[in-house]
Amino acid sequence: MSDLSFQRCINPACRATVDLADTSFRCPKCGGLLDVAYDWDRLPVPKSLKHFESKWANRSDPLDFSGVWRFRELFPFAPDAKVMTVGEGQTLCQRADTVAAYVGMNPGTVYLEYEGMNPSGSFKDNGMTAAFTHARMTGATRAACASTGNTSASLAIYCAAGGGSPPMRAVIFIGSGKISYGKLSQALEHGALTVQIAGDFDDALRQVQDVSRQLGIYLVNSVNPFRLEGQKTIMFRILEALRWRVPDWIVVPGGNLGNVSSFGKAFTELKELGLIDRTPRLAVVNAAGADTFYQLYDRHGLRWNAGEFDKAKYDAYMSAMDAANRRADTLASAIEINRPVNLPKALRALERCGGVVREATDQEMLDAKAKIGAGGLGCEPASAASVAGLLKLVKEGVIAKSDTVACVLTGHVLKDPDATVAYHTADPAVFEAKLGKRGVKRAMFANRAVQVPNQLSEIVKAIELYA
Ligand SMILES: *Cc1c(COP(=O)(O)O)cnc(C)c1O
Ligand SMILES: [Zn+2]
Repeated sequence: MSDLSFQRCINPACRATVDLADTSFRCPKCGGLLDVAYDWDRLPVPKSLKHFESKWANRSDPLDFSGVWRFRELFPFAPDAKVMTVGEGQTLCQRADTVAAYVGMNPGTVYLEYEGMNPSGSFKDNGMTAAFTHARMTGATRAACASTGNTSASLAIYCAAGGGSPPMRAVIFIGSGKISYGKLSQALEHGALTVQIAGDFDDALRQVQDVSRQLGIYLVNSVNPFRLEGQKTIMFRILEALRWRVPDWIVVPGGNLGNVSSFGKAFTELKELGLIDRTPRLAVVNAAGADTFYQLYDRHGLRWNAGEFDKAKYDAYMSAMDAANRRADTLASAIEINRPVNLPKALRALERCGGVVREATDQEMLDAKAKIGAGGLGCEPASAASVAGLLKLVKEGVIAKSDTVACVLTGHVLKDPDATVAYHTADPAVFEAKLGKRGVKRAMFANRAVQVPNQLSEIVKAIELYA
């Protein structure tokens, strides 16, 4: 074991350490979640974040080209020769005045971190490249995940193109009927073994953990702490886009809560390393149809409490949810999760960064999504939870009009075209079938196709009228 990096239990009362190569991803002593930890004192840490700008001149090196690995000094668990990259993390952090106007903020204050630009079309590649690299370091030949779609798309791409020998076999567990075609098509196209379980994501996640343990398959769900190391770079790229200025807020959709956990760890480490002087605040936005974290944090007051969080409160909530057979239900399938595996880490992140949690309905997400799209960046419904949540937080006065905010757009618009087309449709039957029956009442920002007869004069008339 390299003693410079290792795994460590997040429970402050335990702090058990685990070998870097261990792949059980649970504390052997207390069953808690693990962090990847570093002996920073003995590692070469850059003196300033500006150091990373020098990597731009070195783009012919695949590690410096990667928007993840060019920050590898801030998650140094893998030797360069072991890194598996497909050029992930070439993303854009765009100033978004259309969105600022929509949420009632000043021009120039809102930025959208567009993770749809990743090779598989979602932020998942940031974490997958790190986990896939770790899998290779441990000699794994099969990797598995349960997925609402994007994790499986990402894993499929890394197994097909990530390199290494023999090729890594992707095994993907999905719930029945829940996955969007955009995402399913990627798993199939890139050759992953796709196992469709009669159940939902929460069922699939439970199964994949047992199956992986039994068959010795490497698990890449976000319980895997190496994934969260790669996802830290989403924050590094936001800082970089802001010329290393720390924004006041980061707003992110919450599903399994891997991102918020990773972001909290990123800022905590940067602060401890003296690379930033304050952390931004974190806002997590659940879907109203999958709002366990919102309920527990905002409604029931559950807090990390320096590691002594109220486990009984958590267990009681989960038992009541099971007793009522309450299942996650939202159009935002990427966050349709009622048992977020990283909940303790997310509590820790919110404590360290002064976080808040809100929820957004499908209606609110779809309206926000249309506004984001009108500004030029297309995202899937779950991603728009960030802007829908921002709108609420500005209305409440929690976020000021003049604050600087970065919203993470987690996935690309082409991931779920059905939802987009149904929102903009001129056909009430199409709207009803996909959206209306799920409680979406209107499409305030719909851009409807114009129906015209097949006749030049009528077409000309329509264009003069509308354009
Ligand atoms: C996975 C995913 C999320 C949820 O992220 P977590 O880290 O699980 O909270 C949100 N949006 C999209 C598009 C995703 O693929
Ligand atoms: Zn422990």
